[in-house]
Amino acid sequence: MPDDLTFTVQRPPAYGELTDVLPDIFWVRLPVPTVPNHVNCWLLDNGPGWTLVDCGLNTDDTFEIWDKLWRGLLRSRPLQNLAFTHAHLDHFGLAGYFAKEMKCAVRLPLAEWLSGWKMWHEREEGADEHFAAFLTRNGASDDDTARVMEAQRRSKFLGLRPPREFIRLRDGDVVAMGKREWRVITASGHSAEHALFYCERDRILISGDQVLSHMAPSVIAPPAQPQANPMQDYLDSLTRLEALPADTLVLPSHGLPFRGLHARLAQLREHHLARLDDVASVIAGRTTAFAVAQEVFPRVLYASPRQALGEALAHLNMLASLGRLAREVNADGAISFAPV
Ligand SMILES: [Zn+2]
Ligand SMILES: [Zn+2]
Repeated sequence: MPDDLTFTVQRPPAYGELTDVLPDIFWVRLPVPTVPNHVNCWLLDNGPGWTLVDCGLNTDDTFEIWDKLWRGLLRSRPLQNLAFTHAHLDHFGLAGYFAKEMKCAVRLPLAEWLSGWKMWHEREEGADEHFAAFLTRNGASDDDTARVMEAQRRSKFLGLRPPREFIRLRDGDVVAMGKREWRVITASGHSAEHALFYCERDRILISGDQVLSHMAPSVIAPPAQPQANPMQDYLDSLTRLEALPADTLVLPSHGLPFRGLHARLAQLREHHLARLDDVASVIAGRTTAFAVAQEVFPRVLYASPRQALGEALAHLNMLASLGRLAREVNADGAISFAPV
C-alpha cells in the first residue's frame, strides 16, 4: 500500500462536486459502474473559458453531472478545449457529445484517437469472432470460449461515436491548458499512446491511468497484438517518469492526488515484477494464457475476459522476452509457453 505517499486530501469529493486542487485546477469525480468505480476529470480555468481533461463514460449519471455543472457553476464560460489522456471509455466515452455540443477543440494522441474509433466500429460488429479465436488459440476449451462470449454479450458499450476531428498530441508538445503550459509525455503499456501532461513550472503531473495512487494500472496484450510485450513498455515508461522531480504533485485518473512520485513508481515496478514471479511460479510444464488466467485471475476471468486473459498473456510474453519461458505456436496457431 502507498505508505510513502502524501495525499492532498484523505477522502475523495462527492461525485460531481467541483473541488479545487490548486488555483485554476478543479477536480470532478464521476461514477463508473465497473471497477474502479470512479474516474477523475480535471477542469482548468482558461480565463475566458475552460479546458477539460477526460470526460467520463456515456452514462445517464455522467451526463446529468455535466449537465448540472454546465447549467450552474460553469454556465457563464464555454468549454474551449477538451484533452484526453487516452481513449479508454471511462475517460473518452462521452467525448463525442462534448465535441458536438460545445464545438470545442479536441486533443489526443493519434493512436488513442484511432483506438477510440476501433472500439466504436467493433461495437457495431456484434459478436467478435476474432476474440473467440484468440481465446481458443490461447487454450480455452470450446465450452470456456462459449461461456466467455456469452458473458461478453451481456455487457453494454458505454461510449458514443468519437469526435470526427481532433488535434494530434505528440510526445514533447507543449500545450496551454488553463493558465499553465504543459509538456505532453506519451507512454504505452496501459494503452497505445497514453498522454500525460506535465507542468514544469509548478511541478504538476496529470498522469491519467499510467500512474495511479492506489491500484496498479492494467497492462494487457490485446487480441490485436497477441505477441506484444506491453509489460516492457510499461516498465520503460516508469523509468522515463523517474526523470520528473520527486515532489511533483500527481493528479491520477483513479484514486487521490498525491506527492511521492518516485516512491509510487518504485511500488508499481515492484508490483509488476512480483506479479511476474507469481505467474512464473504457477507454471510447472507447458501451459497457455487461458490456464494461467484461470489460476491467477479466477474471479474476473468471465466478467472481464479481455482484461484477465490480456494480463496473463502480457506477463507470459514478458517472461518469454526475458528468456524464462519459451513461446511456441503450433500449426493450428495455438499458442503455448513452457519453462526453459
Ligand atoms: Zn485506462
Ligand atoms: Zn481509467
